Amino acid sequence: MKDLDLRKKNEAFIHKTKEQDPLFFEQLKKGQTPEFFVLSCSDSRVSPSVITQMPLGQMFVHRNIANQVANDDESFSASLYYALKHLKVKQIIIKGHTDCGGVKAALLDNEEEELQGWISKIRKGLPDKRITNKFSMDDLTNMNVLRQVENIQQHPIYKKYGQHVKVIGYLFHVETGELERIYPL
Ligand SMILES: [Zn+2]
Repeated sequence: MKDLDLRKKNEAFIHKTKEQDPLFFEQLKKGQTPEFFVLSCSDSRVSPSVITQMPLGQMFVHRNIANQVANDDESFSASLYYALKHLKVKQIIIKGHTDCGGVKAALLDNEEEELQGWISKIRKGLPDKRITNKFSMDDLTNMNVLRQVENIQQHPIYKKYGQHVKVIGYLFHVETGELERIYPL
């Protein structure tokens, strides 16, 4: 990419948005009523609103490495609570992706001290180490998403405020750009 001047990019964004809808930002200022709560990996290649061409205001997004649902993660719990209780989102999306560095790190016994706490969470969602070589990386990233779907359905905040809200699992294919629905099938 040639132009990494964020100010210039932003000016172009404002111009294009107003061209399509002159009142867009006036509407946006009134508040948010997003349809979706999205949990996505932090990977720079998988931005949820970019890959689905969603305009601002449609997705309330939480991102972490390998899209993990952890009950002891206060930041995630607060996002989930706010999305369900106050924004009243209609769908919860767990979106993992192929070639996920977090899943790879969990499989490859990464030893960087700063990452160990998080990697141990990712490892819990994967098959026992003795049999992981029976699966492809795509299978394992798929399993990671399915495990997080289960985890969110068991999360106390989901149980209390979100029982009526659908949870949908997707695997984003970095190599093709396809967003594949993997739960429910
Ligand atoms: Zn990832």
